Amino acid sequence: MSSQSFPPPLSREECFRELFPREPAFRFRQVEAALFQPKWKGWADATTLSKALRDRLSASMPWTAVTPVALLKSAKGDTFKALLKTADGLKFETVLMSNARDQWTVCVSSQIGCAMGCRFCATGAMGLKRSLLADEIMDQLRYWRTFLEEHGDLPSRLSNVVFMGMGEPLNNVENVKRAIAAWTKHTDLGPVHITVSTVGVLVQLEALLADKTWPPVRIAISLHSADQAVREQIVPSTVPDFLTKLADWSHRYADALGNRRHYLTFEYTLISGVNDSLQHAKELARYVSKTAVKKVNVIPLNAVTGKGFSRSDEKSVEAFKAVLLKQGIDVTERRTMGDDIAAACGQLATEKV
Ligand code: SAH
Ligand code: SF4
Repeated sequence: MSSQSFPPPLSREECFRELFPREPAFRFRQVEAALFQPKWKGWADATTLSKALRDRLSASMPWTAVTPVALLKSAKGDTFKALLKTADGLKFETVLMSNARDQWTVCVSSQIGCAMGCRFCATGAMGLKRSLLADEIMDQLRYWRTFLEEHGDLPSRLSNVVFMGMGEPLNNVENVKRAIAAWTKHTDLGPVHITVSTVGVLVQLEALLADKTWPPVRIAISLHSADQAVREQIVPSTVPDFLTKLADWSHRYADALGNRRHYLTFEYTLISGVNDSLQHAKELARYVSKTAVKKVNVIPLNAVTGKGFSRSDEKSVEAFKAVLLKQGIDVTERRTMGDDIAAACGQLATEKV
């Protein structure tokens, strides 16, 4: 496992300030707005900026912070995975999935690799290379918007974004917030259509409660077990007394952020023989009732080579869900998509492309 971390390149804003130290502050905001004009393909198209500015930008700042290296399409044609490269030559992945409304959901990465090392996750096995810049997060959405613009045969509407690609978004929270702010400002994507999925970094969750700049996005907490000892085995970043502290946090979140409590969900990856028995389901139902969370999203494990875990069979998944439903808990099951191109949850790792 590599856990070497690399310094990131300069952000677009830092680069702009170096190039144009005398420009007023609003100029960079115009520059950022230009990036989201759906038909514009480069600085030369950005007619909201002066000709002199366009020329200098064309000569010195790339139009996108990421360049595509490869594109894969699932056999069903409902999932696409792109391998993107940063300015410093690191590669990471982003996924486009069709959703129930015949629209698209983009699954974005927040880091290259991840330091949290969850035992069943391919990204975790890579270690952390580095956190992505806000621009590199932002541009994953721009990449897929351009892709859809160029593929008129596909449904055109991109309706949701989920932070369920590579990395732990709450370990890169400032850049995640910057990217979300740009999307909600410059596109028609609303914050309720954005989900930040987290392994449950308690210090960061705590900080959100007091953070006036945290957007009203949905938060999904990757729980995976309602038993402290089992969770410690599969999610090694689990801190002592995690479950009690998380339940307490969830109530304070509901109190502090009012109506947003409906947007807190648990994710639970079902792993055969590890956390998928009826006993585990009952334990989960009991735990959920002690929290302010009303909904559980179960995810049948996507196989990751060499991990020694396997997915629960369909009967166990149904029985597990039935226990939760009986206790009045809203349960959904995530459809597995794109597993033939290793684009499903937990399968993202750049060595595989
Ligand atoms: N780091 C964040 C977001 C990225 S992982 C988090 O852990 O929530 C996105 C989701 O994929 C998480 O719920 C994670 O638990 C799940 N996941 C990871 N590996 C998986 C696998 N092999 N099969 C199914 N889901 C997996
Ligand atoms: Fe990181 Fe999430 Fe994978 Fe855990 S499941 S290693 S937190 S990306």
